[in-house]
Amino acid sequence: MQNEPFNLAHILEHAATFHGDVEIVTRQVDDGSIRRSTYGEAADRTRQLARALQKLGISRGDRVGTMGWNTQRHLEAWYAVSGQGAICHTINPRLFEDQIEYIINHAQDRVILLDAPFVPMMERLQARLPSVEQWIVLTDADHLPDADLPGVVDSESLIADERPEFDWPRLDHETPAGLCYTSGTTGNPKGVLYTHRSNMIHAWAVCSRDVTGIGMSDTVLMVVPMFHANSWGLAYACPMTGSKLVLPGARLDGASIYELLDGQQVTFSAAVPTVWNMLLTHLKQNDLGLPHLREVLIGGSAVPRHLIETFDRDYDVTIVQGWGMTELSPLGTTCRLKACMKDWPWEKQVDVRMKQGIPIYGCDLKIVDDDNRELPHDGETAGRLLVRGPWVIKRYYRDDTDATDADGWFDTGDIATIDSFGYMQITDRAKDLIKSGGEWISSVDLENAAMGHEQIEIAAVIGVHHPRWEERPLLLVKPVSGAALTRDEVLDYLRDKVAKWWLPDDVLFVDEIPLTATGKISKLQLRKQYGDYVLPQQETAVADAPDAKMK
Ligand code: ADP
Repeated sequence: MQNEPFNLAHILEHAATFHGDVEIVTRQVDDGSIRRSTYGEAADRTRQLARALQKLGISRGDRVGTMGWNTQRHLEAWYAVSGQGAICHTINPRLFEDQIEYIINHAQDRVILLDAPFVPMMERLQARLPSVEQWIVLTDADHLPDADLPGVVDSESLIADERPEFDWPRLDHETPAGLCYTSGTTGNPKGVLYTHRSNMIHAWAVCSRDVTGIGMSDTVLMVVPMFHANSWGLAYACPMTGSKLVLPGARLDGASIYELLDGQQVTFSAAVPTVWNMLLTHLKQNDLGLPHLREVLIGGSAVPRHLIETFDRDYDVTIVQGWGMTELSPLGTTCRLKACMKDWPWEKQVDVRMKQGIPIYGCDLKIVDDDNRELPHDGETAGRLLVRGPWVIKRYYRDDTDATDADGWFDTGDIATIDSFGYMQITDRAKDLIKSGGEWISSVDLENAAMGHEQIEIAAVIGVHHPRWEERPLLLVKPVSGAALTRDEVLDYLRDKVAKWWLPDDVLFVDEIPLTATGKISKLQLRKQYGDYVLPQQETAVADAPDAKMK
């Protein structure tokens, strides 16, 4: 057979040739207006940008940074950079400034393309970023801010005089294409270097029926950011399938997302739970419906049960849970029902859909104990979750040692069970588990249970020191506005939902729960703030735990 090499730029060329008139609709970062374009036009502009970057001296293997919202210009930058054999380093603007400085210096970016709102941050940092020779603002001359950055230019002027022609090189499959740093919840962020091969295979998998199942009759609203974890592969999967692509720019509030869902007749979307919660509030407050939307893939953190139930019941929209991580390109599992579950009662089906799901073929997965012995698929026994496959990391960028064991298994840092049907369920991040009386308590399960309360907007659980039981759970609650909840009401609510000895020793009401750069509850921050919290003296029920051992 032919050994035709993969170049990600071919995806956009395919879309231009066979779906050239299919639209790309962007909410512009500059002024919030809607811009309509097509795959045909985007491919022309991508070739123009590739030429312009080459003239700036970018060559194979060079790192080109992008810090941008989901827009057509950002999409073109992705394809122009990696298509010519350079590496597109997507920078997450939500990281702390010292982390951004660290990752740009670690990646040694030569050029950075950025949205105008990020210019002030880069002005502050640029003196400490010696590798960056050129700054390109993703805008036109009229919207270019007065920026104190070396060689700054707007992207429209940069490409204006370039011909829309570029011979995409034949690249070896293993050529690096993209670079993304994990948010570094502990220590410095670590770089994950994707190749043309890994991204291409992952994108094919993303298109498949049980992952997104998107096709050319779909309109996809890509809410998951291009600056983190490859926008879940959708920036490749959409042009691959010829689905219409809608890009929300910088506005992710409920009203703006609704306007795009409705105005563009979106059929499929992907987002983190927080964005979809904001949408739900907007829908309820304004009594709106979603007649076009078929499905939403939600992941990044556990999907609250009420979200699945409300969208099913009130909007006829199916929420599909996905699990993954930066190191997995990022998708590893999705959760849909098997044929044998079709006639199960709805509640029981939702129980299944709360799980993280079945591995996507290509991403092999197992759970093991501390001695690396594989654990049974009984839905009860929890262990370290290991993964292996062609879109799973082998070694972090510029690291000396592999991130996998000798057999190629990567430890995700997640703790999970797998049930007899093959569904994986995350019970916690290994470092967030609460060790109490020699037994483990899952902070995620407690949070999910608490978030089922209609007056709780967000709940977080951390383990704090206990003189007798080592650690006990402390529940932090941000109530919905106007709620008048008490500690005892929350504990009463939880009483029949979790094991007795899991019941938090205290409940604190807070105005904000700190989130990480990727929108997850920042346990690190919470532990810093509340790690020394002294629990009230009381008789906890740890003695009820199956193997409780007194310290
Ligand atoms: P970081 O936030 O560290 O950059 P990622 O965005 O790659 O990392 O996050 C990966 C982690 O997010 C996973 O290891 C897992 O703990 C968590 N996660 C992702 N999807 C889900 C999900 N559906 N349910 C629960 N946890 C999830």
